[in-house]
Amino acid sequence: MTSDTWGQVRGELLKSIGKNNFSAWIEPITFDALENRTARFFVPTNFIGSWVSQNFGDLILRHLVSAGVGVDRIEFKVDPAAASRADNRNSEPASARADTTAAAAAAPVVEARPARTAALNPAYKFDSFVVGKPNELAHAAARRVAEGEQVSFNPLFLYGGVGLGKTHLMHAIAWELSTRRPDMDILYLSAEQFMYRFVRALREQDTIGFKEMFRSVDVLMVDDVQFIAGKNSTQEEFFHTFNALVEMGKQIVISGDRAPVDMEDLDNRIASRLQCGLVVDLHPTDYELRLGILQQKVDLQRLRTPDLTIAPGVLEFIAHKLSTNVRVLEGAMTRLFAFADLIGSPITMDLTQECLSDILRATDRKVTIDEIMKKTCEHYNIRQSDMIGPSRARNIARPRQMAMYLCKKLTTRSLPEIGRKFGKRDHTTILHGVRRIEELMATDSQIAEDAELLRRMLEA
Ligand code: ADP
Ligand code: MG
Repeated sequence: MTSDTWGQVRGELLKSIGKNNFSAWIEPITFDALENRTARFFVPTNFIGSWVSQNFGDLILRHLVSAGVGVDRIEFKVDPAAASRADNRNSEPASARADTTAAAAAAPVVEARPARTAALNPAYKFDSFVVGKPNELAHAAARRVAEGEQVSFNPLFLYGGVGLGKTHLMHAIAWELSTRRPDMDILYLSAEQFMYRFVRALREQDTIGFKEMFRSVDVLMVDDVQFIAGKNSTQEEFFHTFNALVEMGKQIVISGDRAPVDMEDLDNRIASRLQCGLVVDLHPTDYELRLGILQQKVDLQRLRTPDLTIAPGVLEFIAHKLSTNVRVLEGAMTRLFAFADLIGSPITMDLTQECLSDILRATDRKVTIDEIMKKTCEHYNIRQSDMIGPSRARNIARPRQMAMYLCKKLTTRSLPEIGRKFGKRDHTTILHGVRRIEELMATDSQIAEDAELLRRMLEA
């Protein structure tokens, strides 16, 4: 094979994987030699090598074969010259790096077998993560872990609802660590992939290889751990992997959709292990954070279309109207930009309302029980756990009744449904709470004022 053939294959790869992927992953690799039906490539780092081999290995192989190259496998080797350049550089690397497995990193070899590891998204880095009150703690903890200096919080457990940035932060940690500590083996994968690999190891009777691989990493990151809750043999294995790594002083980062104690089917031993580290949650976004994120999207879009114009008030309107899930915000902006581009007009309020009418309608301020509980807790300065807890102390019970009242008035939920949310209380308890507040509102102006204020805040 000649470099010409490789050039031709690169052209094909560009077409099949797109520009972003191409510049992130294929651009950095160079063809070395073809020997014994093995094509060898140089990669700047192990990280790139294993990522390319796992994610594009098959594709590269196929393209080589269709270009007439007599090749059965490909191998990636770190280019010593490039590696030393990587060590010396202190600015952002020109190419992105991602997820690796220890086994693959040691000898990035690919054969015709589908890759199973998730990729790191080059867009998910710290510099594109907008920090606000709801996520500042999670962000600070992630930053600390990403310094890679010493294992400070182990494990770091990040949790929060869908689309609040858990995966983004985890990828950001992996990117940052891989830049600062190229020596480290960082393994990022979803809990689902962990299970898949475990099951495969069982089937292939290679649990020893599985254990060795997972125990040899320096940093293990497992996303969406709730996935393995209730899957008992996988949980068991996960628990042992976890302990082994903690004992060796290796960093672990885990994410989940809720607090460990609230994951019903999660092995208690795992839950208590998670509690031993640092547990931080990503709160639902607030107005300021949403506005910040929207502004960032506009800034990014301006790099592509410099004369993008947005009427005053449009971003504020969207930040106000749309839900807490950042993915929804992103979808809205993507659509808005495409629409404005298509019809070649500035983004006005009218255009926004037309273009996003379905999303706006769907999220048209449906207040949720969770929101009501949260706002009520904030207002009375009590903990959310008090809402569902047993305390009958008046300073807890009264706010709880207020929240029950608001749930009845502002949502369409039934009393039993509300009861379940309030720590499995009976529907008669809810009814009692609602009536109590109604009575008090007539006689106690403070209560009436609180109710009115909360209602306005929730309906805003
Ligand atoms: P999760 O894993 O919590 O469901 P993700 O990390 O996948 O959420 O985030 C959903 C989307 O929102 C991603 O595209 C992510 O980049 C974006 N996003 C979330 N939080 C932020 C933030 N604070 N700043 C910028 N983008 C964010
Ligand atoms: Mg996620």
